[in-house]
Amino acid sequence: MQNNIDKLRPIENLIIDMDGVLYRGDEAIPGLKEFFAFLRGRPVDFILATNNSTRTARQYVDKLARMGVEVAPSEILTSAQATAIYLETLAPPGTKVYVIGEEGLEAAVRERGYIISRDGAEFVVVGMDRGFTYDKLKVATLLIRGGARFIGSNPDKTLPTEAGFIPGAGAMLAALEASTGVAPTIVGKPERTIFELALAKLGGSREDTAVIGDRLDTDILGGYNAGLTTILVLSGATTRQGVDSASIKPDLVFEDIQHLYKVWRQL
Ligand SMILES: [Mg+2]
Repeated sequence: MQNNIDKLRPIENLIIDMDGVLYRGDEAIPGLKEFFAFLRGRPVDFILATNNSTRTARQYVDKLARMGVEVAPSEILTSAQATAIYLETLAPPGTKVYVIGEEGLEAAVRERGYIISRDGAEFVVVGMDRGFTYDKLKVATLLIRGGARFIGSNPDKTLPTEAGFIPGAGAMLAALEASTGVAPTIVGKPERTIFELALAKLGGSREDTAVIGDRLDTDILGGYNAGLTTILVLSGATTRQGVDSASIKPDLVFEDIQHLYKVWRQL
């Protein structure tokens, strides 16, 4: 596929995925610092948006700082934060919420003023939880069967690790869906909510905002559904052959962020 780089011309805002785009694990993608220097200089505003709900925004700020890149907590949007912001559209602070998830999700829900409780919870909020147990499944099942709203931070069924694919939030959601017969409302990519929240934070229009990601089924599909320009980088989960054979087509494809800014800075 030939890139139509004119599609970069109107872009003033970016919603950028992190893993596979900015780094792989703890290893920075080549050109990371220069990419951010380019964005700051242009300037192009950005939100770093991730489906990972286990970490807090501060942990991402610290991780990028170790790679020599300075970002503000307000430039990060995790699916955990997006879930808590979404909750605000449904219920006032002080409402009881049962959380299956890790530090990132619990912190986000608490920061927005919700009370994490298994007793009398009106919402069951579920993200990846490496401490997932039968007891948590049982509590959440009874709450949802009793009328609590069922919300998932992100739909990822598995996560790639050195050991192979391990269960993600989607596996926990599937267990609960099996025991309740209720499908969750999903906040993270590829659903629209996280993109709409990022767009609102950026204050841009659909015409001047692009998504950068490494996954076709989350970043690119979600960006497309949200009406945004989509940019795939081949530094993560997707290969060139994968793009050619997929039904979801990004607007632009680059090897990595270094390739992207080197093309972009000439426009
Ligand atoms: Mg990624």
